[in-house]
Amino acid sequence: MDSPLPVNARLMQPLTECKGVGPSLQEKLQKLGLHNVQDLLFHLPMRYQDRTRVLPMGSLVPGREGVVSGEIQRTEIKYGRRRMLLIRLADGTGSLTLRFFYFSDKQRQSLQRGAQLRCFGEVRSGPGGLEMVHPEYRVFNAADALEVEEHLTPVYPTTEGLNQLGLRRLIAQALQHVADVQELLPAVTLAPEFPALAQAIEYLHRPPPDASLTLLAEGRHPAQQRLALEELVAHQLSLLKARQQSQTEQAPVLKPQTDLITPFIETLPYQLTEAQQRVVSEVEADLQQAHPMLRLVQGDVGSGKTVVAAIACLQAVSAGYQAALMAPTEILAEQHWQNFTRWFEPLGLTLAWHTGRAKAAERRRNRALTESGEAAIVIGTHALFQDDVNFHRLGLVVVDEQHRFGVHQRMVLREKGALQGIHPHQLIMTATPIPRTLAQTAYADLDLSIIDALPPGRRPVKTVAMSNERRAEVVAHVADACRGGQQCYWVCTLVEESEALQAEAAEVTFTGLSEALPDLRLGLVHGRMKGDEKEAVMAAFKAGELELLVATTVIEVGVDVPNATLMIIENAERLGLSQLHQLRGRVGRGSAQSACVLMYQSPLSKTGRRRLQAMRESNDGFRIAQIDLELRGPGELLGTRQTGLMQFRIADIVRDAELVPVVSRIARQIVAQTPERIEPLIERWVGDKLRYQAV
Ligand code: ADP
Ligand code: MG
Repeated sequence: MDSPLPVNARLMQPLTECKGVGPSLQEKLQKLGLHNVQDLLFHLPMRYQDRTRVLPMGSLVPGREGVVSGEIQRTEIKYGRRRMLLIRLADGTGSLTLRFFYFSDKQRQSLQRGAQLRCFGEVRSGPGGLEMVHPEYRVFNAADALEVEEHLTPVYPTTEGLNQLGLRRLIAQALQHVADVQELLPAVTLAPEFPALAQAIEYLHRPPPDASLTLLAEGRHPAQQRLALEELVAHQLSLLKARQQSQTEQAPVLKPQTDLITPFIETLPYQLTEAQQRVVSEVEADLQQAHPMLRLVQGDVGSGKTVVAAIACLQAVSAGYQAALMAPTEILAEQHWQNFTRWFEPLGLTLAWHTGRAKAAERRRNRALTESGEAAIVIGTHALFQDDVNFHRLGLVVVDEQHRFGVHQRMVLREKGALQGIHPHQLIMTATPIPRTLAQTAYADLDLSIIDALPPGRRPVKTVAMSNERRAEVVAHVADACRGGQQCYWVCTLVEESEALQAEAAEVTFTGLSEALPDLRLGLVHGRMKGDEKEAVMAAFKAGELELLVATTVIEVGVDVPNATLMIIENAERLGLSQLHQLRGRVGRGSAQSACVLMYQSPLSKTGRRRLQAMRESNDGFRIAQIDLELRGPGELLGTRQTGLMQFRIADIVRDAELVPVVSRIARQIVAQTPERIEPLIERWVGDKLRYQAV
């Protein structure tokens, strides 16, 4: 690493040039997206530990992490269900219990009464006062000088087989070259309190003892904000680049043939809302351009996005091209399949479909239909773009419920089209309502259309919250409703995303409810069932042959059974607001009054209570999304799954919302004045993140 290379070349050296990095470590580093010295500098800590001072035991509070130092007063082995070693440590200001479940004889012998001990750990309240469980510790002599760390200790994102110490050593090597890091943002646009880039990086890897842990934890320290700004600029540039590139690409000009489209709209049992009509004409205009449309349609659950997609597909088909529709789940793909066949077979169109579960012969047949172009419309899950499915003349790709896919998949679709020498138009639909300014940053590569009104006659879903203690009442209510001819969903949720556990919980509930309500017809669907089993149950529910459907969150997105009017959601207090809103959106789709019961385990946390309250007060997705953002604690990650937004290294598009206007301004300025900096910025922050992963 000391070779006299020119400035940038030094930062671009592969990591094998660092001391102690061989091929196996290099591979692990690659998993973290770390390829060169610069990548190490931009690999930022996710949190910090304070080992810069020794805390008086008298000052400890539960939840605090820190260093303590004292003399062992008592050592005791306790035999209960588990053997454990308990040590009483005191420093003159107070005392603390250390608890060890695993310990060797040698360890125990070194921890004798009178020994001096230095520990680091998290303080908790235990049965006999404050304690630390399995702290890091060192026995020392009273004569030893007690040195402490000079900086806050960074804790980095890492991967198996690479520990914090190893990463810290590597980053320390990289920091020798921090001065070589090039400033790429125009200096005049930076806030005066922002440190220079090299200083910001050094500060975040080695914060001084007086750095504010609170600011750092919230990501609001100026050093972090300086980097967050740059990261947002880099992402914006990468999306703008993608957009610009698409403008230079060729796409088929899809002239609408009114003799196919107008009769279709006339056969619908309802009138398109004004909002739907507006979006339809925006899409119609885009599809007639010679470069690919990239349009995001946002519309709250139940706003009627499907029919807008159908009209777009028809425009492609009427111009002699194929249209593909991709849904995030099999249940949803199946539902679209049913709607689209019902709509389009009477028009003489052939449809094909692709999901992961199709049998070999079926798969072959659908592949042939797709490849020959006989199928005008092709529907499926992501299997559409995974399998060796080839299109004849693909003109339009529609992606439904985009928040389930994310930015990477969007890019893959673009590539898939490009592979075939033609760039299809893209229509992306999402029910995730995020404020417009944020959308413009998160989706800078897309044009935005909003369906901002629900079809007329909808009545807001009446929502109540009930504690688990009143389960019997809830069951009685469900029974009454079903006996009175209503249909009902009972949703079993677990926080763990494990499908196996979810399925198990749903089975248990299904059995219990079946016993309690022997006169009703119940169905069960969960993610572990086979595709055709799921399909049969959903079809029976849709046909009104089942009154009560016990389900996991597999029904969370898109499912449309307008006759269902009652929804019970278990463990509602543990779900995020957007997820609750999506789930509740399964009812209230017809003109009948619908209701939703949110069951919870008391006592409710403050946030839990406010979430449920928000659900009771509002049916408006935008309002709920706003409250959701306000209720999120700082530093709480916005899952991609929850929001469809990007994950950043240091920026948080919601927390840093006030940076957004600055970000756009800087990005424009760079494009206009210093375009040579675009690539280095993208390389630095986005790197291979946006290089396309498998769908
Ligand atoms: P989402 O936007 O959540 O995908 P869907 O497309 O599933 O919504 O539509 C929800 C329901 O509203 C469907 O049952 C659909 O038939 C109905 N619908 C759609 N547009 C209209 C309209 N203009 N008037 C009345 N009902 C409509
Ligand atoms: Mg939908």
